[in-house]
Amino acid sequence: MNDRRPPPLEPFVLIVEDETPLAELLKYNLESEGFRIAVATDGEEALLLVDEETPDIIILDWMLPEVSGIEVCRRIRATQNTKDIPIIMLTARGEEADRLRGFETGADDYVVKPFSPSELIARVRAVMRRTRLATEADQLSYEGVSLDRGTRKVVRDGRSIHLSPIEYRLLQVLIEKPCHVFNREYLLNVVWGRDVYVEERTVDVHIRRLRKALNQGAEPDIIRTVRSGGYAIDVGDI
Ligand code: CA
Repeated sequence: MNDRRPPPLEPFVLIVEDETPLAELLKYNLESEGFRIAVATDGEEALLLVDEETPDIIILDWMLPEVSGIEVCRRIRATQNTKDIPIIMLTARGEEADRLRGFETGADDYVVKPFSPSELIARVRAVMRRTRLATEADQLSYEGVSLDRGTRKVVRDGRSIHLSPIEYRLLQVLIEKPCHVFNREYLLNVVWGRDVYVEERTVDVHIRRLRKALNQGAEPDIIRTVRSGGYAIDVGDI
């Protein structure tokens, strides 16, 4: 067990593309730019992967077997947990009518094939920057504890709190959705990454350290342990 490994903070990109050579090319180029990648080759697989771990952005091909890219986009937009995920649609069609249809369905941007990987990467960065500014406040807070995603500083009632990267990432995941119970498996996937083998009790160890850093004296414990469930940021009835 190696719990000193830095957490995967790189943006998670889902590529949905049935043309394997193109999917591989995009994966290679995005990985070398520091993105973490998953590839789905059809719409159903894409929806399953989105359900497992929320991507920071989706690159979605229009022409897919069975469930089309447009339909995948529509379903993602119709679901509460996924409706704000930025989506860039890829298509061979350059017609204005199709472009408009893509935007109407909720795509954030639209790239016409053929394109260069560097052009797509520039679009990915631009869309992520734009949606992040539009949808996320840098400051997340709950019951006097605040976390600033811009400066990565954590403060509790004016007192600075120093956290390791793992504890910071754990707090960020928990505080993004107060009162939501996250199970250990989910926390392992998003904080440590799905390719890293870490035992579930490692989560408990880091939650203990996070609690110790957050709570001093008579301050209420803002982390709730849910027996056989996981953890939530929640002061309950205190
Ligand atoms: Ca295709």
